[in-house]
Amino acid sequence: MTWTPDLVAQLKVLWEQGESTAEIGRRLGVSKNAVVGKAHRLALQARPSPIRRRRAAKPVVKGPRCQWPIGDPRSVEFRFCEEEAAPGKPYCEGHCQMAYTRSGSSASERSGSGAAAAATKAA
Ligand SMILES: [Zn+2]
Repeated sequence: MTWTPDLVAQLKVLWEQGESTAEIGRRLGVSKNAVVGKAHRLALQARPSPIRRRRAAKPVVKGPRCQWPIGDPRSVEFRFCEEEAAPGKPYCEGHCQMAYTRSGSSASERSGSGAAAAATKAA
């Protein structure tokens, strides 16, 4: 299947109108998978469904949140994990495992989230 500029333009319009990928595919005469793949390559914004948008209100915070840093602290995208923390721990279950099961000689390689480690290396 070939994505002509015309098809791509139609894809973008339908995408922004919030049509489902299946519907876009039907209208353009391509498979749903082709639509999804093309949208991904075009880096089109994922569209929250109306249902999810309505439920977007933050859940009630029950307890301490995971303090595991995610991303580069110098970046605006930096944030904390904020999953519910394991009892008595500063991190969620998954991050506790990462924090407390360092072994071997390459501990520095394993520390931090993957993104942070990569950013540090690149810097
Ligand atoms: Zn966490």
